[in-house]
Amino acid sequence: MDDAVNFGGIGVVIGHELTHGFDDQGRKYDPQGNLRDWWSAEDGKEFEKRVSCIADEYSSFVAVDDLKLNGHLTLGENTADNGGARIALMALRKIMAQVPSEKTAAKIDGYTPEQRFFLGFGRVWCQKQRAEESRRRVTVDPHSPGK
Ligand SMILES: [Zn+2]
Repeated sequence: MDDAVNFGGIGVVIGHELTHGFDDQGRKYDPQGNLRDWWSAEDGKEFEKRVSCIADEYSSFVAVDDLKLNGHLTLGENTADNGGARIALMALRKIMAQVPSEKTAAKIDGYTPEQRFFLGFGRVWCQKQRAEESRRRVTVDPHSPGK
């Protein structure tokens, strides 16, 4: 696929994994991998404030029927998903600025590179799952459903 689609796919996955180092669990480890709070009190407080927005947002999403997600159970993965998308989109924009070419800037099938980025992003989340399995996962899976 073209760069934009790949940045929205594997680029987001790579950004996701990088972001885990700074999610609600990863931030508890110092640069040497030791379990130690190395953040300033002010930064830690700001982090908690910001991730509570992510937890609240995802807690409002319906997983199946009337069952909502647990935004605290899925917080680390949701933080990584959002961080990964941000990092990958920033990387795509950087590449487009550095290597202006017909390939990176042109529309393909009528879609801009940024639109293709999100088409690639959406494709990562395609899945089909029975309602019973969706209900089970809401209680145990730290990953939000693709939907
Ligand atoms: Zn993850």
